[in-house]
Amino acid sequence: TEMLKVSDVSVAYGRMTAVRNVSLSIDNGSISVIVGPNGAGKSTILRAIAGGIKPSKGHIEFDGQTIVGRRPEDLAASGISLVPEGRHVFPTLTVRENLLVASHVVRDRAGSLNDMERLLQLFPRLRERFSQTAGKLSGGEQQMLVIARALMTRPRLLLVDEPSLGLAPKIVDEVYELLLELRRERGLTLLINEQTSKRVLKFAETVYVLRDGSIRLKGSAQQLRLGT
Ligand code: ADP
Ligand code: ADP
Repeated sequence: TEMLKVSDVSVAYGRMTAVRNVSLSIDNGSISVIVGPNGAGKSTILRAIAGGIKPSKGHIEFDGQTIVGRRPEDLAASGISLVPEGRHVFPTLTVRENLLVASHVVRDRAGSLNDMERLLQLFPRLRERFSQTAGKLSGGEQQMLVIARALMTRPRLLLVDEPSLGLAPKIVDEVYELLLELRRERGLTLLINEQTSKRVLKFAETVYVLRDGSIRLKGSAQQLRLGT
């Protein structure tokens, strides 16, 4: 069944239209990827879904409810969570503190501590570094941390912006193994931005190719593989 429906959405920054008439259909439990070069509008689409920016046109529905105009905190409470590009951790806070900061937005402290314990079972590397400051983690560990932090609000839809940026291929594999495990273990629905389709064609069910703010191609990974 359809969890997220983006219909004919455009987003402008001042006079510049960054995203034009974009439509997406994301099924419950699926993995979808938006592939496009830097500046194509990928981040803008994720921000529009997560409530960080308001479309100038179009509709967005989550679980059949209109969500345009709702605040990011409300959307987090409803089950949408964004992992922004850039691995923005709080460098002087510990791993533990970085995780708890996020959950205070929508949840009580006791619930958060339980969630964190359960969550960390999926993140053994972070568990080992629980009391270290986040600034001391490697790039891959910081990427794991921002993903874990986004999960503290118990999302059903996770939006992940360029998780592989600036990471070594082996580390990127680990990050993707983790994302796939999250879908298996928690039934998470994933919408991921990437600049190239190389890695994601292996497991993405639907791929949207974005260029200059418009979707140029949409298909199953298999269809796109045959096309290239
Ligand atoms: P991508 O994530 O694919 O790199 P973005 O969504 O970040 O693309 O950007 C799409 C276009 O919108 C780019 O031309 C970018 O410079 C512009 N843009 C992004 N954010 C802003 C902003 N806050 N203000 C003005 N222009 C922006
Ligand atoms: P991304 O591709 O993920 O958006 P960028 O490096 O393009 O990353 O953007 C980083 C930040 O700068 C974002 O907050 C974005 O909104 C903002 N930004 C990007 N392009 C512009 C622009 N042309 N004018 C103003 N802000 C911008």
